[in-house]
Amino acid sequence: MNDLSHLRLDFPVLQRRVHGKPLVFLDSAASSQKPKQVLDVMDAAYRTYYANVHRGAYLLSEESTAAYEQARGKVARFINAARAEIAFTRGATTALNTVAFGWGMDHLRAGDRIVLTMMEHHANVVPWQLVARRTGAELVYVPMTDDYRLDLKRLSELLDERVKVVSFTGMSNVTGTMPPVAEIAGLARQCGSLVVVDAAQLVTHAPVDVQQLGADFVAFSGHKMLGPTGIGALWGRPEVLEEMEPFEGGGEMISDVRLDGSTWAPVPHKFEAGTPPIIEAIGLGAAVDYLDKIGMESVRRHEMELTAYALSRLAELPAVRVFGPAEVDHRGGVISFALADVHPHDVATILDQDGIAIRAGHHCAKPLTRTLGVPATARASFQVYTTREDVDALVDGLRRVQEVFRVD
Ligand code: PMP
Repeated sequence: MNDLSHLRLDFPVLQRRVHGKPLVFLDSAASSQKPKQVLDVMDAAYRTYYANVHRGAYLLSEESTAAYEQARGKVARFINAARAEIAFTRGATTALNTVAFGWGMDHLRAGDRIVLTMMEHHANVVPWQLVARRTGAELVYVPMTDDYRLDLKRLSELLDERVKVVSFTGMSNVTGTMPPVAEIAGLARQCGSLVVVDAAQLVTHAPVDVQQLGADFVAFSGHKMLGPTGIGALWGRPEVLEEMEPFEGGGEMISDVRLDGSTWAPVPHKFEAGTPPIIEAIGLGAAVDYLDKIGMESVRRHEMELTAYALSRLAELPAVRVFGPAEVDHRGGVISFALADVHPHDVATILDQDGIAIRAGHHCAKPLTRTLGVPATARASFQVYTTREDVDALVDGLRRVQEVFRVD
Protein backbone atom coordinates (compact mmCIF):
# COMPACT_ATOMS: atom_id res chain seq x y z
CA MET A 1 0.00 0.00 0.00
CA ASN A 2 1.12 3.51 -0.81
CA ASP A 3 0.94 4.88 2.72
CA LEU A 4 1.22 8.67 3.01
CA SER A 5 -0.16 8.90 6.56
CA HIS A 6 3.15 10.33 7.88
CA LEU A 7 2.30 13.53 5.96
CA ARG A 8 -0.50 14.31 8.41
CA LEU A 9 2.00 15.73 10.87
CA ASP A 10 2.83 18.46 8.35
CA PHE A 11 -0.72 19.85 8.55
CA PRO A 12 -1.24 21.76 11.81
CA VAL A 13 -5.02 21.94 11.51
CA LEU A 14 -5.30 18.16 11.31
CA GLN A 15 -4.04 17.98 14.89
CA ARG A 16 -7.04 19.85 16.27
CA ARG A 17 -10.22 18.49 17.80
CA VAL A 18 -13.75 19.40 16.74
CA HIS A 19 -16.68 19.04 19.17
CA GLY A 20 -14.28 17.14 21.41
CA LYS A 21 -13.36 14.61 18.68
CA PRO A 22 -10.31 14.37 16.43
CA LEU A 23 -10.92 16.24 13.18
CA VAL A 24 -11.70 14.00 10.19
CA PHE A 25 -11.42 16.38 7.26
CA LEU A 26 -13.15 15.06 4.15
CA ASP A 27 -13.84 18.28 2.26
CA SER A 28 -10.58 18.79 0.40
CA ALA A 29 -12.28 19.14 -3.00
CA ALA A 30 -13.78 22.40 -1.74
CA SER A 31 -10.42 23.53 -0.41
CA SER A 32 -7.43 21.62 0.88
CA GLN A 33 -5.56 22.12 4.14
CA LYS A 34 -2.06 23.64 4.10
CA PRO A 35 1.19 22.05 5.24
CA LYS A 36 3.55 23.99 7.50
CA GLN A 37 6.05 24.04 4.61
CA VAL A 38 3.65 26.40 2.78
CA LEU A 39 2.74 28.44 5.87
CA ASP A 40 6.40 28.91 6.80
CA VAL A 41 7.44 30.12 3.36
CA MET A 42 4.61 32.67 3.31
CA ASP A 43 5.34 33.83 6.84
CA ALA A 44 9.05 34.23 6.09
CA ALA A 45 8.31 36.18 2.92
CA TYR A 46 6.15 38.69 4.82
CA ARG A 47 8.68 38.95 7.65
CA THR A 48 11.90 39.27 5.68
CA TYR A 49 11.62 40.58 2.12
CA TYR A 50 8.04 41.59 1.32
CA ALA A 51 7.67 44.45 -1.18
CA ASN A 52 5.74 45.02 -4.39
CA VAL A 53 7.08 43.21 -7.45
CA HIS A 54 8.41 44.42 -10.79
CA ARG A 55 8.67 47.99 -9.49
CA GLY A 56 11.26 49.04 -6.98
CA ALA A 57 14.91 49.41 -7.83
CA TYR A 58 15.75 48.34 -4.29
CA LEU A 59 16.79 45.05 -2.74
CA LEU A 60 13.50 44.02 -1.12
CA SER A 61 11.56 44.49 -4.31
CA GLU A 62 14.21 42.61 -6.27
CA GLU A 63 14.01 39.71 -3.82
CA SER A 64 10.23 39.75 -3.86
CA THR A 65 10.18 39.81 -7.67
CA ALA A 66 12.69 36.96 -7.84
CA ALA A 67 10.62 34.81 -5.46
CA TYR A 68 7.39 35.60 -7.35
CA GLU A 69 8.96 34.71 -10.71
CA GLN A 70 10.62 31.64 -9.22
CA ALA A 71 7.16 30.48 -8.10
CA ARG A 72 5.94 30.90 -11.67
CA GLY A 73 8.78 28.64 -12.80
CA LYS A 74 7.82 25.99 -10.22
CA VAL A 75 4.17 26.02 -11.28
CA ALA A 76 5.24 25.78 -14.93
CA ARG A 77 7.55 22.81 -14.27
CA PHE A 78 4.80 21.10 -12.28
CA ILE A 79 2.71 20.79 -15.45
CA ASN A 80 5.69 20.52 -17.83
CA ALA A 81 5.23 24.00 -19.30
CA ALA A 82 7.53 26.96 -19.93
CA ARG A 83 7.58 29.80 -17.41
CA ALA A 84 6.17 32.40 -19.82
CA GLU A 85 3.16 30.18 -20.48
CA ILE A 86 1.83 30.58 -16.92
CA ALA A 87 -0.29 33.61 -16.03
CA PHE A 88 -1.08 33.89 -12.34
CA THR A 89 -4.79 34.50 -11.72
CA ARG A 90 -7.02 34.70 -8.67
CA GLY A 91 -7.99 31.06 -9.22
CA ALA A 92 -9.56 28.70 -11.73
CA THR A 93 -12.65 30.90 -11.98
CA THR A 94 -10.66 33.96 -13.06
CA ALA A 95 -8.57 31.83 -15.42
CA LEU A 96 -11.69 30.50 -17.12
CA ASN A 97 -13.22 33.98 -17.33
CA THR A 98 -9.97 35.23 -18.88
CA VAL A 99 -10.32 32.67 -21.66
CA ALA A 100 -14.08 33.03 -22.13
CA PHE A 101 -13.93 36.83 -22.36
CA GLY A 102 -10.36 37.40 -23.60
CA TRP A 103 -10.58 34.81 -26.36
CA GLY A 104 -14.32 34.32 -26.76
CA MET A 105 -15.39 37.91 -27.32
CA ASP A 106 -13.02 38.21 -30.29
CA HIS A 107 -13.54 34.80 -31.84
CA LEU A 108 -17.18 33.81 -31.35
CA ARG A 109 -20.20 34.94 -33.31
CA ALA A 110 -23.76 33.83 -34.08
CA GLY A 111 -23.79 30.34 -35.57
CA ASP A 112 -20.71 29.22 -33.59
CA ARG A 113 -20.96 26.56 -30.93
CA ILE A 114 -19.39 26.28 -27.50
CA VAL A 115 -19.31 22.67 -26.32
CA LEU A 116 -19.39 22.07 -22.55
CA THR A 117 -20.33 18.96 -20.60
CA MET A 118 -23.04 18.12 -18.09
CA MET A 119 -20.33 17.68 -15.46
CA GLU A 120 -19.07 21.24 -15.33
CA HIS A 121 -18.61 23.39 -12.27
CA HIS A 122 -20.43 26.73 -12.59
CA ALA A 123 -17.01 28.33 -13.15
CA ASN A 124 -16.89 26.57 -16.52
CA VAL A 125 -20.52 27.24 -17.41
CA VAL A 126 -21.47 30.77 -16.42
CA PRO A 127 -18.55 32.64 -18.11
CA TRP A 128 -19.42 30.87 -21.38
CA GLN A 129 -23.12 31.70 -20.91
CA LEU A 130 -22.21 35.38 -20.47
CA VAL A 131 -20.05 35.33 -23.58
CA ALA A 132 -22.63 33.35 -25.58
CA ARG A 133 -25.25 35.93 -24.72
CA ARG A 134 -23.04 38.75 -25.99
CA THR A 135 -21.74 37.02 -29.12
CA GLY A 136 -24.79 35.01 -30.19
CA ALA A 137 -22.84 31.73 -30.02
CA GLU A 138 -24.78 28.64 -28.95
CA LEU A 139 -24.02 26.40 -25.95
CA VAL A 140 -24.18 22.64 -26.34
CA TYR A 141 -23.67 20.14 -23.51
CA VAL A 142 -22.21 16.65 -23.77
CA PRO A 143 -24.27 14.23 -21.63
CA MET A 144 -23.03 11.62 -19.17
CA THR A 145 -23.40 7.87 -19.60
CA ASP A 146 -25.34 5.77 -17.09
CA ASP A 147 -22.07 4.95 -15.34
CA TYR A 148 -21.21 8.64 -14.82
CA ARG A 149 -18.62 8.86 -17.60
CA LEU A 150 -18.62 11.38 -20.38
CA ASP A 151 -20.55 10.18 -23.46
CA LEU A 152 -17.70 10.27 -25.97
CA LYS A 153 -19.89 8.91 -28.77
CA ARG A 154 -22.24 11.86 -28.35
CA LEU A 155 -19.27 14.22 -28.20
CA SER A 156 -17.94 12.88 -31.53
CA GLU A 157 -21.37 13.35 -33.11
CA LEU A 158 -21.51 16.95 -31.89
CA LEU A 159 -18.13 17.95 -33.24
CA ASP A 160 -18.37 19.77 -36.56
CA GLU A 161 -17.15 22.99 -38.14
CA ARG A 162 -19.57 25.08 -36.05
CA VAL A 163 -17.72 24.12 -32.84
CA LYS A 164 -15.17 26.79 -31.89
CA VAL A 165 -14.54 25.86 -28.26
CA VAL A 166 -14.66 22.65 -26.27
CA SER A 167 -14.26 23.42 -22.58
CA PHE A 168 -14.47 20.60 -20.05
CA THR A 169 -13.40 19.43 -16.65
CA GLY A 170 -10.38 17.16 -16.19
CA MET A 171 -12.04 15.77 -13.06
CA SER A 172 -15.57 16.35 -11.82
CA ASN A 173 -15.86 17.85 -8.36
CA VAL A 174 -19.14 15.95 -7.90
CA THR A 175 -18.78 12.47 -9.40
CA GLY A 176 -14.98 12.32 -9.38
CA THR A 177 -15.09 11.32 -13.06
CA MET A 178 -11.84 11.80 -14.95
CA PRO A 179 -12.62 12.02 -18.65
CA PRO A 180 -9.86 11.03 -21.11
CA VAL A 181 -8.55 14.56 -21.62
CA ALA A 182 -6.01 13.88 -24.38
CA GLU A 183 -8.50 11.83 -26.38
CA ILE A 184 -11.16 14.55 -26.15
CA ALA A 185 -8.63 17.27 -26.98
CA GLY A 186 -7.54 15.28 -30.04
CA LEU A 187 -11.12 14.93 -31.28
CA ALA A 188 -11.84 18.62 -30.69
CA ARG A 189 -8.69 19.81 -32.43
CA GLN A 190 -9.49 17.68 -35.47
CA CYS A 191 -12.46 19.93 -36.10
CA GLY A 192 -10.38 23.05 -35.51
CA SER A 193 -11.80 23.85 -32.07
CA LEU A 194 -10.03 25.54 -29.18
CA VAL A 195 -9.62 23.18 -26.22
CA VAL A 196 -9.93 24.41 -22.64
CA VAL A 197 -9.44 22.15 -19.62
CA ASP A 198 -10.75 23.05 -16.18
CA ALA A 199 -8.06 21.31 -14.12
CA ALA A 200 -9.14 22.74 -10.73
CA GLN A 201 -9.50 19.20 -9.36
CA LEU A 202 -7.33 17.25 -11.79
CA VAL A 203 -4.09 19.08 -11.07
CA THR A 204 -3.97 18.03 -7.43
CA HIS A 205 -5.20 14.46 -7.90
CA ALA A 206 -3.10 13.21 -10.83
CA PRO A 207 0.02 14.11 -12.80
CA VAL A 208 -0.66 16.75 -15.46
CA ASP A 209 1.64 17.23 -18.45
CA VAL A 210 0.38 19.94 -20.76
CA GLN A 211 2.61 18.64 -23.56
CA GLN A 212 0.57 15.43 -23.54
CA LEU A 213 -2.90 16.85 -22.90
CA GLY A 214 -3.18 18.57 -26.27
CA ALA A 215 -5.20 21.47 -24.84
CA ASP A 216 -4.87 25.18 -25.64
CA PHE A 217 -5.67 26.34 -22.11
CA VAL A 218 -5.54 24.72 -18.67
CA ALA A 219 -6.98 26.48 -15.61
CA PHE A 220 -6.48 25.70 -11.92
CA SER A 221 -6.55 27.08 -8.37
CA GLY A 222 -3.84 27.06 -5.70
CA HIS A 223 -6.08 26.49 -2.69
CA LYS A 224 -7.16 23.00 -3.75
CA MET A 225 -3.54 21.88 -4.18
CA LEU A 226 -2.28 22.64 -0.65
CA GLY A 227 -1.57 26.28 -1.53
CA PRO A 228 -3.23 29.49 -0.34
CA THR A 229 -6.48 31.05 -1.53
CA GLY A 230 -6.47 33.96 -3.96
CA ILE A 231 -3.99 32.45 -6.40
CA GLY A 232 -4.34 30.17 -9.39
CA ALA A 233 -2.98 29.86 -12.87
CA LEU A 234 -3.89 29.86 -16.51
CA TRP A 235 -1.59 27.90 -18.76
CA GLY A 236 -1.90 28.69 -22.45
CA ARG A 237 -0.30 27.52 -25.65
CA PRO A 238 2.23 30.31 -26.40
CA GLU A 239 0.81 31.28 -29.79
CA VAL A 240 -2.74 31.52 -28.39
CA LEU A 241 -1.60 33.57 -25.37
CA GLU A 242 0.29 35.87 -27.72
CA GLU A 243 -2.74 36.47 -29.87
CA MET A 244 -5.37 36.77 -27.10
CA GLU A 245 -6.44 40.17 -25.78
CA PRO A 246 -6.12 40.81 -22.04
CA PHE A 247 -9.29 40.36 -20.00
CA GLU A 248 -8.43 42.98 -17.39
CA GLY A 249 -6.61 46.30 -17.84
CA GLY A 250 -4.57 48.29 -15.34
CA GLY A 251 -1.09 48.66 -13.96
CA GLU A 252 1.62 46.03 -14.56
CA MET A 253 0.05 44.68 -17.77
CA ILE A 254 1.03 47.47 -20.15
CA SER A 255 4.06 48.31 -22.24
CA ASP A 256 2.97 51.90 -22.89
CA VAL A 257 -0.13 53.96 -22.16
CA ARG A 258 -1.06 57.03 -24.17
CA LEU A 259 -4.24 59.04 -24.12
CA ASP A 260 -5.48 57.39 -27.30
CA GLY A 261 -4.52 53.81 -26.54
CA SER A 262 -2.10 51.38 -24.93
CA THR A 263 0.19 48.52 -25.81
CA TRP A 264 0.59 45.39 -23.76
CA ALA A 265 3.42 43.97 -21.70
CA PRO A 266 4.81 40.68 -23.00
CA VAL A 267 3.07 37.39 -22.16
CA PRO A 268 2.29 36.41 -19.42
CA HIS A 269 2.40 39.86 -17.77
CA LYS A 270 -0.30 41.26 -20.04
CA PHE A 271 -2.71 38.94 -18.19
CA GLU A 272 -1.69 40.13 -14.72
CA ALA A 273 -3.28 43.55 -14.25
CA GLY A 274 -2.68 45.30 -10.93
CA THR A 275 -0.61 44.25 -7.94
CA PRO A 276 -0.65 40.46 -8.02
CA PRO A 277 -1.20 38.17 -5.02
CA ILE A 278 2.56 38.07 -4.40
CA ILE A 279 2.81 36.04 -1.23
CA GLU A 280 0.05 33.73 -2.41
CA ALA A 281 2.04 32.99 -5.58
CA ILE A 282 5.11 32.27 -3.47
CA GLY A 283 2.96 30.03 -1.26
CA LEU A 284 1.71 28.17 -4.33
CA GLY A 285 5.33 27.64 -5.35
CA ALA A 286 5.94 26.05 -1.94
CA ALA A 287 2.83 23.85 -2.35
CA VAL A 288 4.16 22.67 -5.69
CA ASP A 289 7.52 21.87 -4.05
CA TYR A 290 5.64 19.84 -1.44
CA LEU A 291 3.63 17.87 -4.02
CA ASP A 292 6.73 17.38 -6.18
CA LYS A 293 8.53 15.86 -3.24
CA ILE A 294 5.74 13.31 -2.76
CA GLY A 295 5.48 12.83 -6.52
CA MET A 296 2.18 13.13 -8.34
CA GLU A 297 2.33 9.48 -9.46
CA SER A 298 2.44 8.56 -5.80
CA VAL A 299 -0.41 10.96 -5.00
CA ARG A 300 -2.54 9.35 -7.72
CA ARG A 301 -1.69 5.82 -6.50
CA HIS A 302 -2.57 6.74 -2.92
CA GLU A 303 -5.84 8.19 -4.05
CA MET A 304 -6.80 5.23 -6.24
CA GLU A 305 -6.16 2.84 -3.35
CA LEU A 306 -8.07 5.02 -0.91
CA THR A 307 -10.98 5.53 -3.29
CA ALA A 308 -11.23 1.78 -3.96
CA TYR A 309 -11.21 1.19 -0.21
CA ALA A 310 -13.86 3.87 0.40
CA LEU A 311 -16.13 2.53 -2.36
CA SER A 312 -15.91 -0.99 -0.92
CA ARG A 313 -16.58 0.21 2.64
CA LEU A 314 -19.54 2.35 1.53
CA ALA A 315 -20.93 -0.70 -0.30
CA GLU A 316 -21.37 -2.28 3.17
CA LEU A 317 -24.22 0.17 3.68
CA PRO A 318 -27.03 -0.79 1.29
CA ALA A 319 -28.78 2.56 1.88
CA VAL A 320 -25.81 4.44 0.41
CA ARG A 321 -25.99 5.24 -3.29
CA VAL A 322 -22.77 6.54 -4.85
CA PHE A 323 -22.98 8.92 -7.80
CA GLY A 324 -19.82 8.23 -9.75
CA PRO A 325 -17.87 5.64 -11.74
CA ALA A 326 -17.21 2.34 -9.97
CA GLU A 327 -13.73 1.84 -11.49
CA VAL A 328 -10.96 3.89 -9.93
CA ASP A 329 -9.15 4.08 -13.29
CA HIS A 330 -11.79 6.56 -14.38
CA ARG A 331 -12.18 8.56 -11.24
CA GLY A 332 -10.46 10.45 -8.47
CA GLY A 333 -11.05 10.71 -4.73
CA VAL A 334 -14.27 12.70 -4.70
CA ILE A 335 -17.26 10.61 -3.69
CA SER A 336 -20.78 12.00 -3.86
CA PHE A 337 -23.51 9.93 -2.34
CA ALA A 338 -27.04 9.78 -0.97
CA LEU A 339 -28.02 7.98 2.22
CA ALA A 340 -31.56 6.66 1.63
CA ASP A 341 -33.75 9.76 1.58
CA VAL A 342 -31.97 11.55 4.42
CA HIS A 343 -31.23 15.11 3.35
CA PRO A 344 -27.48 15.57 2.71
CA HIS A 345 -27.44 18.57 5.06
CA ASP A 346 -28.74 16.34 7.87
CA VAL A 347 -26.06 13.77 7.04
CA ALA A 348 -23.37 16.47 7.17
CA THR A 349 -24.70 17.98 10.41
CA ILE A 350 -24.76 14.65 12.25
CA LEU A 351 -21.28 13.75 10.99
CA ASP A 352 -20.03 17.14 12.16
CA GLN A 353 -21.01 16.24 15.71
CA ASP A 354 -18.46 13.43 15.41
CA GLY A 355 -15.80 15.82 14.11
CA ILE A 356 -16.24 14.64 10.52
CA ALA A 357 -16.30 17.40 7.90
CA ILE A 358 -17.99 16.58 4.59
CA ARG A 359 -19.72 18.81 2.08
CA ALA A 360 -23.45 18.78 1.34
CA GLY A 361 -25.08 20.72 -1.47
CA HIS A 362 -25.07 21.13 -5.23
CA HIS A 363 -21.27 21.68 -5.24
CA CYS A 364 -21.58 24.59 -7.70
CA ALA A 365 -22.63 22.12 -10.39
CA LYS A 366 -26.40 22.50 -10.49
CA PRO A 367 -26.94 21.12 -14.02
CA LEU A 368 -25.12 17.97 -12.91
CA THR A 369 -26.95 17.48 -9.60
CA ARG A 370 -30.21 18.08 -11.45
CA THR A 371 -29.26 15.29 -13.89
CA LEU A 372 -28.63 13.02 -10.92
CA GLY A 373 -32.24 13.66 -9.93
CA VAL A 374 -31.37 15.10 -6.51
CA PRO A 375 -31.29 18.67 -5.18
CA ALA A 376 -28.04 17.99 -3.38
CA THR A 377 -25.56 15.25 -2.53
CA ALA A 378 -23.31 14.50 0.40
CA ARG A 379 -19.67 14.49 -0.68
CA ALA A 380 -16.49 13.14 0.87
CA SER A 381 -13.25 14.13 -0.83
CA PHE A 382 -9.64 13.16 -0.29
CA GLN A 383 -6.17 14.64 -0.33
CA VAL A 384 -2.66 13.39 0.29
CA TYR A 385 -3.29 13.50 4.07
CA THR A 386 -6.48 11.41 3.97
CA THR A 387 -6.21 7.93 5.48
CA ARG A 388 -8.16 4.68 5.69
CA GLU A 389 -8.94 5.64 9.28
CA ASP A 390 -10.73 8.75 7.96
CA VAL A 391 -12.80 6.53 5.67
CA ASP A 392 -13.57 4.15 8.57
CA ALA A 393 -14.70 7.13 10.68
CA LEU A 394 -17.00 8.21 7.83
CA VAL A 395 -18.59 4.77 7.57
CA ASP A 396 -19.07 4.59 11.37
CA GLY A 397 -20.57 8.09 11.28
CA LEU A 398 -22.96 7.10 8.51
CA ARG A 399 -24.12 4.14 10.61
CA ARG A 400 -24.99 6.63 13.34
CA VAL A 401 -26.92 8.75 10.83
CA GLN A 402 -28.83 5.60 9.90
CA GLU A 403 -29.69 5.00 13.56
CA VAL A 404 -30.91 8.58 14.04
CA PHE A 405 -33.10 8.43 10.94
CA ARG A 406 -34.02 4.75 11.43
CA VAL A 407 -32.72 3.76 8.02
CA ASP A 408 -32.63 -0.02 7.52
N1 PMP B 1 -13.77 23.84 -11.40
C1 PMP B 1 -13.88 22.80 -10.56
C2 PMP B 1 -13.98 21.40 -11.11
C3 PMP B 1 -13.90 23.04 -9.18
O1 PMP B 1 -14.02 22.01 -8.34
C4 PMP B 1 -13.81 24.37 -8.72
C5 PMP B 1 -13.85 24.67 -7.23
N2 PMP B 1 -14.83 23.96 -6.52
C6 PMP B 1 -13.68 25.40 -9.64
C7 PMP B 1 -13.66 25.09 -10.98
C8 PMP B 1 -13.57 26.83 -9.23
O2 PMP B 1 -12.41 27.05 -8.52
P1 PMP B 1 -12.18 28.40 -7.69
O3 PMP B 1 -13.41 28.61 -6.88
O4 PMP B 1 -10.97 28.11 -6.88
O5 PMP B 1 -11.94 29.49 -8.69
